[in-house]
Amino acid sequence: MTQQLIKWTFPGKWITGGFGLTLLLMVIICFVSLKNTDEIKSGANRVQQTYQTLNALTNFYGAMTAAESARRGYIFLGSSQDLQRYYHAKADMRSQLQILQKQIHSYGSQEKRLVSLNLLVNQRLSLLEQSIELYQKDKKSMLIQNNITVRSVQIREKILQVMAEIKAEEQTHLQDSLEQSKQSIYFRILIEIFTTFLILIIILGLCIILEKQWIKREQIRALEFSLAQEKKIGDLKIQLFSMISHEFRTPLSIILLSSQLLKESLETLVDEQHLKNIFRIQSSAKIMNHILTDILILTRAEAGQLDFKLQVINLENFCLNLVEDLQIFAKKANMIRFQKRGSIFKANIDEKLLYSILSNLLLNAIKYSNNETAIYLKLKSEAELITFQVIDQGIGIPLAEQHKIYEPFYRCQNVENIAGTGLGLAVVKKCVELHQGEIIVESKVGTGTTFTIMIPQENT
Ligand code: ADP
Repeated sequence: MTQQLIKWTFPGKWITGGFGLTLLLMVIICFVSLKNTDEIKSGANRVQQTYQTLNALTNFYGAMTAAESARRGYIFLGSSQDLQRYYHAKADMRSQLQILQKQIHSYGSQEKRLVSLNLLVNQRLSLLEQSIELYQKDKKSMLIQNNITVRSVQIREKILQVMAEIKAEEQTHLQDSLEQSKQSIYFRILIEIFTTFLILIIILGLCIILEKQWIKREQIRALEFSLAQEKKIGDLKIQLFSMISHEFRTPLSIILLSSQLLKESLETLVDEQHLKNIFRIQSSAKIMNHILTDILILTRAEAGQLDFKLQVINLENFCLNLVEDLQIFAKKANMIRFQKRGSIFKANIDEKLLYSILSNLLLNAIKYSNNETAIYLKLKSEAELITFQVIDQGIGIPLAEQHKIYEPFYRCQNVENIAGTGLGLAVVKKCVELHQGEIIVESKVGTGTTFTIMIPQENT
């Protein structure tokens, strides 16, 4: 039973489901986190790239201003250092333009702007080259130089215009990228809080289920332990009784025999009143004998060593003898009444066990009835079924306890101080089962009890 409970129970499914769900959630979180990390990383890259573009623009502007001032310095002062500065600045402009080419976002508008920036830079540089060459040929041609300067300034304005546009667009992208990164981070925080909370709830649920299961298992274990203890005590009781019954049987037989001899020898010498004491000895010894027989039957049946011998007997004679035997225990004369139905009274039955069955039922009927009422032993003999009924109008058996009365040592709440061992009906049940029969009880507290025994007769 316990194994079945542990195997695959309702909470078991919940636990597995819970673990599965937690695992699935963790996989999903890992996946979402990975994607989110990627987004944050690429957002950071975009921001860095935009900063580099803006930086390259600033550097380019610086190099362009430096080239212009170096050219002017060279033309006005003729210093070769200025010429060197000019070439440096020019190279710097080119390298910054290359950086821009690599860094700038590959949107159509930015690329177009870069193309026109390149064109304007080339135009301006060729103007500056012209100016330098002209100076080297003719140092006094200031008018033409002024002209070149005016045109160069015009181109510079255009360059600044394009640069401003490039910068504005890059800054817009920078804002977008920053906004996106922010949102990705918010999303990640949200998802982490949510899933941590969810996992905590699942784990809490699992803990509750596990604790409940643990408590249930402990209860089952405690129950099993107490049942085992009860069984052990029951077994010990049976062993003890079996030993005692063996030891008591011989002296008891001597008491019975001696009292019988005493009764026979005194019967003619003393009156009925004086013989009563001998009757008392006899009935007490018989009751003891009856109890010892019950114990022996029960212990042998438990050990699977009970003799079971079917023989054909005359049921009518058997019942009449039984009634006569038990009259000694009756509370008034003619208390036990025998009634029969049917015509064939031969049956295949174990006589000793049938004696135990009916004597136990009749003795109970006497014990649990008062002096006024009668007790009936009814026999119905049919070809295939023998039915015995023991009917009394005694204290009755409470309905709630009727299913327990066949357990060894069980006694109902309403027996009060009526003596008994609680073994009789256990013996009856065992003997009926050996005959493949059935026992039914119908009883009402305060009204009376009817025990019906049915024994099949295929072998008669
Ligand atoms: P006991 O020795 O106590 O009679 P039994 O095993 O014969 O033991 O019966 C078990 C219990 O069933 C009794 O203690 C009693 O409570 C109840 N019982 C049995 N027969 C009757 C009956 N005829 N009337 C009322 N109660 C009965």
